Amino acid sequence: MSTTLFPPADLAHPGAVASNGTTPPYRLAAHTRLATKTFGRGGTEVRALDGVDVGLAAGEFTAIMGPSGSGKSTLMHCMAGLDTLSSGEVFVGDVELGALSDRELTRLRREQIGFVFQSFNLLPMLTAAENITLPMDLAGTKPDGEWLDSVIETVGLTDRLKHRPSELSGGQQQRVAVARALAARPQLIFADEPTGNLDSRTGSEILGFMRYAVDRFAQTVVMVTHDPVAAAYADTVLFLADGRIVDSMSSPSADRVLDRMKQFGA
Ligand code: ADP
Ligand code: MG
Repeated sequence: MSTTLFPPADLAHPGAVASNGTTPPYRLAAHTRLATKTFGRGGTEVRALDGVDVGLAAGEFTAIMGPSGSGKSTLMHCMAGLDTLSSGEVFVGDVELGALSDRELTRLRREQIGFVFQSFNLLPMLTAAENITLPMDLAGTKPDGEWLDSVIETVGLTDRLKHRPSELSGGQQQRVAVARALAARPQLIFADEPTGNLDSRTGSEILGFMRYAVDRFAQTVVMVTHDPVAAAYADTVLFLADGRIVDSMSSPSADRVLDRMKQFGA
C-alpha cells in the first residue's frame, strides 16, 4: 500500500473533501483534482463530472451516494482507470493515471485495483474458483495461496469452488465477484452497487464482508449505494449531485443518511 503523505498543498484548493473528514496530512489511496468528464458534444453534451476534488482515505470504507445520473459510476470508473477524464487528474497512490501508457495503466489496474460490478460479471463456463483467479491467470501471475484461501474461506465459498455461476445463488455469485476483486490483494476496491441485485440478507453478508476486509486487512473500499442501511457500514459517506461532491458524513447511521437524502430530495 502506498504510504505517501499528502501535504495540504496537494488538496488545498477550495472544495477539496477528504473521505475521512480529517485535516491533512492524511493518507489517500486515491484522489482527484478538478476531475471533469463530459459525454457527447454540442447540444447533447452531458457533464457527468463537474470539477470533482475528492480524496479516498486509505484503509477506510467510503460510500458514495447521490441521485441516479449524478455521476457516481463515472467517478468510480475514472478513479479505477476503466475510463478517462475529459480534464483534471486522477491519482492512485501518488501515480497520476493520465501520465501512464496503456500498458502501464493495465498493469496498475491489475495489481492495485479490484472492481465489483452490480451484475457480478462472472464467466458462465468457468467454475467459481476459475472465475476468482481469472484476472491473475490472464495476467500470468500466481496468486498468494494463503491469502487466496483466507479470502475464499471468509466469503464462505470453500465448498462451492467447483460450481458454475448458474449453480450458485445471487449472493454466492456476488461473493465470487468480491473474492475475485480481493484475490490479487489490490490496495483499492471499488464496488458499484454491489448489493443492488441481492436480497437484504445476502446483501448484508456482502457488506459485512467488505467491512471485515477493511477492519481486518486495512483494505480500502469505495462503494456506490442507494441504500442508507448499506451506507451505514461505511466510515464516511460522500454525496454527489450533478457531477459534484456536495456533502460528506463521517460515522454515518442509516437514519442520518436517510435524513440527508430527504433534505436533498435524492
Ligand atoms: P450514476 O451512476 O450516478 O447513476 P452515471 O455516472 O452513470 O450516474 O452517469 C452520469 C451522467 O452521465 C448521466 O447523465 C448519464 O446519462 C451520463 N453518461 C454516463 N455514461 C455515459 C456514456 N457512456 N455515454 C453518454 N452519457 C453517459
Ligand atoms: Mg451508476
